[in-house]
Amino acid sequence: MKVLVTGGAGYIGSIVTEQLVQAGADVVVYDNLYQGHRAAVHPRAAFVQADLADLHALHETFAAHQIEAVMHFAGNTLVGESVQHPFLYLGDNVRNGLNLFETAVKHGVRRFVLSSTANLFDRPRQIPISEEELINPGSPYGESKHILERILYWLEQTKGVRYAAFRYFNAAGASETYGEDHNPETHLIPLVLRVALGQREHIQIYGDDYTTPDGTCIRDYIHVIDLAQAHILALNVLDQGSRVYNLGSGNGFSVRQVIETSRAVTGHPIPAIVGPRRAGDPARLIASSEKARRELGWQPRYPDLHSIIETAWRWHQRHPQGYGHP
Ligand code: UDP
Repeated sequence: MKVLVTGGAGYIGSIVTEQLVQAGADVVVYDNLYQGHRAAVHPRAAFVQADLADLHALHETFAAHQIEAVMHFAGNTLVGESVQHPFLYLGDNVRNGLNLFETAVKHGVRRFVLSSTANLFDRPRQIPISEEELINPGSPYGESKHILERILYWLEQTKGVRYAAFRYFNAAGASETYGEDHNPETHLIPLVLRVALGQREHIQIYGDDYTTPDGTCIRDYIHVIDLAQAHILALNVLDQGSRVYNLGSGNGFSVRQVIETSRAVTGHPIPAIVGPRRAGDPARLIASSEKARRELGWQPRYPDLHSIIETAWRWHQRHPQGYGHP
């Protein structure tokens, strides 16, 4: 199958591309490299450096390649930034997704996989969070993903599109070749590992007065390769019907547990300092991924935090400056 991967030079997109190539797919990566890295584009993927706002480049790409499915990862992805700059999300993220979907449909493409988010579930009524949970986006970022899900829903009703949307919890870890390199980095695990690499003095814990056993926030960390596998499984059954899945490991770990596990993996003391809470952080987010297991036969290969952090640590040791200076 020939698959267009938008954002294929980013963290999740690069690893999905790698897994697709390994599964025998033909991949075209479409990325403007604002946040992605040229070195993260798989050498066996075709590469188009262009923006999703560029309708001409989009059209040319679909005209030049016999695309059979689209996986959409490109976009702005930071909750905090979306609160400060809502138009980047409610504007650009939505417009760019629409450009992509409209051009794809015009070219006869009917299969879509959308990268969505756990930020759809602000203040969940029940933990673990299932697909039945009330959708209540926690930010303009979450809302932009919700709107894209709804657009795909209506394209299914009106244009015969089939789609899968995955609401990710905390993607983490690395493959042998590709890993996490954001600028600025805001995510817990890469920041903790930068302390272990000697690039930062300490990790700051954003609040230890939450109603959790050790007072720090609990999150569900899922290995990025497991996440990629779910996308590929979904692609294979998409023609049988559209679907949405929550995707996590089903286990929750506190910020302190992540730091403690990172100390065990790296052998570094990783000093931690407790600071104030970060705005908008819910105390506890854990996914129920039962539906993905049941319907897709999905089985995580890295269900434990230790092995997730180990893969991230290997990658960061090999790429201490990320993709900038290999
Ligand atoms: N966190 C922290 N210090 C940091 C970065 C993150 O304490 O320097 C916490 C954050 O408050 C959250 C958890 O670690 O509870 C995971 O944050 P991250 O930004 O990695 O992912 P999020 O859950 O926000 O998507």
